[in-house]
Amino acid sequence: MKKDVAYQKCINPQCGAEYDCAQTLVTCSACGELLDAQYDWDRVSVPDSMEAFAKRWTTRSRRLDFSGVWRFRDLLDFCPDDQKVSIGEGQTILEKNDRVAQHLGMDPGSVYLQYEGLNPSGSFKDNGMAAAFSHAKMVEATSCVCASTGNTSASVALYAHSCGLKCTVLIGTGRIAFGKLSQAMDYGAQTIQINGDFDDCMHQVQAVCQRLGLYLMNSLNPFRLEGQKTIMYRIIEGLGWEVPDWIIVPGGNLGNSSAFGKAFMELKQLGLINKVPRLAIVNATGADTLTELVNNRGLSWNDGRVDQGIIDDYYADLTAREFSPRTCASAIEISRPVNLKKCLRALEVCQGVVLAVTDPEICDARALIGRYGLGCEPASAATIAGLKHLLDEGVINPGERVACVLTGHVLKDPDVTVNYHKQKQGVFSNAPVEVENDLEAIIRLIQR
Ligand SMILES: *Cc1c(COP(=O)(O)O)cnc(C)c1O
Ligand SMILES: [Zn+2]
Repeated sequence: MKKDVAYQKCINPQCGAEYDCAQTLVTCSACGELLDAQYDWDRVSVPDSMEAFAKRWTTRSRRLDFSGVWRFRDLLDFCPDDQKVSIGEGQTILEKNDRVAQHLGMDPGSVYLQYEGLNPSGSFKDNGMAAAFSHAKMVEATSCVCASTGNTSASVALYAHSCGLKCTVLIGTGRIAFGKLSQAMDYGAQTIQINGDFDDCMHQVQAVCQRLGLYLMNSLNPFRLEGQKTIMYRIIEGLGWEVPDWIIVPGGNLGNSSAFGKAFMELKQLGLINKVPRLAIVNATGADTLTELVNNRGLSWNDGRVDQGIIDDYYADLTAREFSPRTCASAIEISRPVNLKKCLRALEVCQGVVLAVTDPEICDARALIGRYGLGCEPASAATIAGLKHLLDEGVINPGERVACVLTGHVLKDPDVTVNYHKQKQGVFSNAPVEVENDLEAIIRLIQR
């Protein structure tokens, strides 16, 4: 039987099992590893240059050409056009920010901020959901579920009600930022708070899927990552179809970094780019599994022969210590990232580096982006905090072109922002001043 142009394939080269896209799988049925969406590129009509995608700006009155995900559909064409879901995701901008550059000691024209907060639910997750919900529609799913630190639940809830799917979200009690919790409830998701952290929720949601056959919307879902590839296409687009020297991204469940690595692997293979950028993945020190495994325990992709023993030992150690991750950047408060192996592959493809930054560094970087950029939530600011480290260490040079992915909107986590300013926690704190209800007193303050 001739297989379809798009199919699913196990990432483990020793297995390599293939599955039809019409199947709903969470992992490889043969070996349990993660799955990729794959394409028989010889049978896909891919444009001969990235510039060719620009022509879709002129036909943006068409639904799919307007979407920042689907106007690149030739590179992720796993379902028929009439099943592709869009609610206007991916209308994001790449901002050249010389004030932030200057503050860090980077050259003018070197720092770019890819602001994914402009998505319909306020985070990059919408890129992935446009693709995952298209697949869900293709397989005629009626109910979906996800575990979430917050933004996944907001995005899933929004897409679910616009597609008519029933939706349940699992979140850790007390672990979610207020903006995100308010969205899940407002968009009509059944919201279940579990007495535990994200890793507990992730564990439970997989069991729930198995028992009830619900459609899983976490980034284990290979189709979600297809949508997230387009963040990289839009960065290239924003640079006049040039590839930056570096991409910096926060690392949580490692779906984004995995998707970015896959995007560049494919673009290189297709001859659509002439170089692959380097990738820097930034953890918070309170949730630094990737940093620990890669930098201190020597874990690597190793042509797909990942040393599982290193991972098992570390996770056993976490369990023995009853470790629960802690960081103010709640979106990356994860200690058992499900996309770890795909991320290791991305690190190899992109000659990647990983590092961890502290919460105070994240908070100052967040406020810097607020002061001079479009603002973002704490996890997103790990990128700028990470850039500062990499610059100080000489890994990144001041003249290199760096694109930082600002993953979520500034209004997602007002508590962190307000506390930073009111409690004067950092160098950019800008607390409100109290004054009597008196004109002269107000004027004295303004003129001070
Ligand atoms: C989900 C999320 C992350 C983490 O992304 P992963 O793909 O899980 O590594 C980072 N920042 C924000 C704002 C998020 O919502
Ligand atoms: Zn397999």
